[in-house]
Amino acid sequence: MDNKSTTTELLAPAGSLEKLKSAIHYGADAIYLAGQRYGLRAKATNFNDDEMVEAVRLAHAEGVRVFVTVNIMAHNEDLLDLPDYLHFLAESKVDALIISDPGIFRLTRQLLPEMKIHISTQANITNYQSALFWQDMGACRINLARELSGVEIAEVCANIQAKVEVFVHGALCISYSGRCMLSHYLTGRDANKGACAHPCRYNYRLEEEKRPGEYFPVEEDERGVYIFNSKDLCLLERLPELLAMGVDSVKIEGRMKGIYYAAGIVRIYRAALDFIKAVQQENSDIVPQMPSAFMDEILKLGSRGYSQNFFNGQAGPDTMLYSGPKVTQDYVPAALVRSDSSSVEVEIEVRNVIRPGDELEYMGQGLANFPFKVQGVRSDQGTPLEQANPGLRIFLIADRPLDWQCHGLIRKVRVVA
Ligand code: SF4
Repeated sequence: MDNKSTTTELLAPAGSLEKLKSAIHYGADAIYLAGQRYGLRAKATNFNDDEMVEAVRLAHAEGVRVFVTVNIMAHNEDLLDLPDYLHFLAESKVDALIISDPGIFRLTRQLLPEMKIHISTQANITNYQSALFWQDMGACRINLARELSGVEIAEVCANIQAKVEVFVHGALCISYSGRCMLSHYLTGRDANKGACAHPCRYNYRLEEEKRPGEYFPVEEDERGVYIFNSKDLCLLERLPELLAMGVDSVKIEGRMKGIYYAAGIVRIYRAALDFIKAVQQENSDIVPQMPSAFMDEILKLGSRGYSQNFFNGQAGPDTMLYSGPKVTQDYVPAALVRSDSSSVEVEIEVRNVIRPGDELEYMGQGLANFPFKVQGVRSDQGTPLEQANPGLRIFLIADRPLDWQCHGLIRKVRVVA
């Protein structure tokens, strides 16, 4: 079994190689991802076998660990190809597998006794005896259910030797950590196989059998009722407490999220962990308060509303988003930096239309933002462009030199039409 960590790991999602590179750029210590089989989030652009090998190579070159989800609730037929896949993952040198199904766990232990196994949040571990059960079975890390309070998390940390991993940021389920049939019933897409259509976020109304098409609002307000629609989790302000409890890894949800959001969140949590470490190097007894600058940055990335879920005890109505499935977003992604540069000119891949005169912001590592004005854009042949459209790889000329780094992000203020 691994020893307990001395520093807390930042564990980031990656739905593609590009997202993996940006997550590493912005400071992830470890990445979790899925292959095209056996991982939840079937819609995420999961890694094919070649990409998996490349992901491990890239991550290990930067000293970053790679964990692969094999966390579906398996039926018998799902087991047929599983041995081949498990051997492939071992040969790919992934650092651990994330598993929830006891059958997959058992098979993995038989076939790959050396492979490290992390227990997925899908296993719904809500007490230290459950954690000890999986520890006794050979798991080296436990991801706790998202339904635990801070006090309960601390009790688990104090009672097990296996590492403890806690989700600190991302989408929540109205059901127990994703164990839910709502999507399967309503859309035929099984959340337990990674295909959730998020029907918990839908607007529900009542229809009387003899009046088809006539919908009766079940109203909280005039927009209808979003009875299952939970806000997103954000425990950034509780990070110092989680670290003091002995949590070994803080995990960000979001393999299906866009690169701007996912990498942007990694960047902020990296800065937050570094801030706490710096404060505690001065005085290890201090459990610092998080400055508001961290939350301000999180809010710039867009939000469905944030909650601390069960951290303070029972989650209540304030954890729900009754007013609609809305996302508030003050900034939108503008481009991805494609090469290092320390001049006014940098190669970028455009994500939103960019024109000369636009005011943009380069997101440096840490919380540093660098506003600049676009002086011009040109094609790779050198032709000046009036505007650069999404998908184009072009050269941007800024009004001042910046320390551009490949895989960094550029954003702009969202213009509301
Ligand atoms: S429908 Fe909602 S509660 Fe159910 S698995 Fe999907 S996201 Fe979670």
